[in-house]
Amino acid sequence: MATDKIPYLTIAITNRCNFHCYYCSPDEDGGMGEAYGTSTNSIDIKDLEEKILIAEEEGMTKVRFSGGEPLLIHDITDVFRFIEDNTTLEYALATNGSIVDRFVDDFEGLSRLDIRISLDTLDRGQFSEICGCSKIQYDKVIANIKVIIIKKYVKPSSSSCYTRQY
Ligand code: SF4
Repeated sequence: MATDKIPYLTIAITNRCNFHCYYCSPDEDGGMGEAYGTSTNSIDIKDLEEKILIAEEEGMTKVRFSGGEPLLIHDITDVFRFIEDNTTLEYALATNGSIVDRFVDDFEGLSRLDIRISLDTLDRGQFSEICGCSKIQYDKVIANIKVIIIKKYVKPSSSSCYTRQY
């Protein structure tokens, strides 16, 4: 397998999300709140860990977890710990940032974790409209961006917090 052409692996670990961005969620899926705060896990963590090991053996150097909202898979921190303890892979979490604060204790010691929070706009009202959520969610995302900066989960080489202007 010619892995020099595929240096990193992106894993969309779930298609569930607690936001309902107009450009992403189908109208009928009830995105906002449908999965919020639940721990239902539809993935096989052991199988995923085995595939991550295979990816490293094949020459990949980085794994990126996306969704949906990856943090709705509560076991994801177990996967991060596995990567930290069993590989030399760099790994990144692409998140909407809304529930990062719930995982701060679980992230402790994950030295290679690179968290990337997306933010569609710096306008609180516009954010609420775009993401189909309350304005309070904007405040939570901003607060969580500060948390990941303070905790050094933003790696210098990444554009970990970015906005899309409308
Ligand atoms: S936060 Fe991301 S995954 Fe969730 S609805 Fe918005 S664009 Fe889609």
